[in-house]
Amino acid sequence: MKKPIIIAIDGYSSSGKSTMARALARRLGYRYIDSGAMYRAVTLYALENNLIDTNGNVDTDGIVNALDSIKIDFHLSADGTQHTTLNGRDVEADIRTMPVSSNVSTVSAIPQLRHRLVLWQQEFGKGKGIVMDGRDIGTIVFPDAELKIFVNAPAETRAHRRFIELEAKGIAVDFDEILANIRHRDLLDTTRAESPLRRAEDAIDLDNTLMTIEEQDAWLDEQVNLKLGR
Ligand code: C5P
Repeated sequence: MKKPIIIAIDGYSSSGKSTMARALARRLGYRYIDSGAMYRAVTLYALENNLIDTNGNVDTDGIVNALDSIKIDFHLSADGTQHTTLNGRDVEADIRTMPVSSNVSTVSAIPQLRHRLVLWQQEFGKGKGIVMDGRDIGTIVFPDAELKIFVNAPAETRAHRRFIELEAKGIAVDFDEILANIRHRDLLDTTRAESPLRRAEDAIDLDNTLMTIEEQDAWLDEQVNLKLGR
């Protein structure tokens, strides 16, 4: 077997990163880490512990102080899907709700929080053989990752996908609210001072607007095979 590598998949909100990263990890027998789920889990903790008020004002010190009491992990459920846990509790559904989506980009802009989560993410990557998706994986978390992909598609396309995904889960949603949330997160994620979303210079671009999931997977396999010399 080839030496395991680190694969970093970065890109804008709802660009399909997680779906492709998860499936790729399964095909390779690698571990998949959804770094966005970690920022979402901290945001959920903050919401549940009154560290964010109803106007979206964030208690930065409160969140930073709480980090020692927060343990985020991932486990595979019986049906083979990955679930995020927050202090041992399965929060996979809770971290995908609108209140979390609306506040996560403000929370994730806190520098001390980012430093801590980056360390946790690097810990996950120690043994290599990992696919991690996020915003700063190829630039900050694993600048030496062997393969870096940068995914993008227009905001409307991404909002449409998210709409269908949430609807399928039975979560009541409004398309305009989703589109506004995606645009808002794009803006906050690309303009924050600390490790903003940007394409690593050595990343390979993927615009998946017109691609089916199967086409996308095939394209990704090609990139992996080129890297692994297969
Ligand atoms: O990937 P997902 O959309 O679930 O991420 C939620 C939010 O977490 C993003 O909008 C971004 O603010 C933050 N995030 C980040 N850095 C990462 C992953 C996610 O700032 N590596």
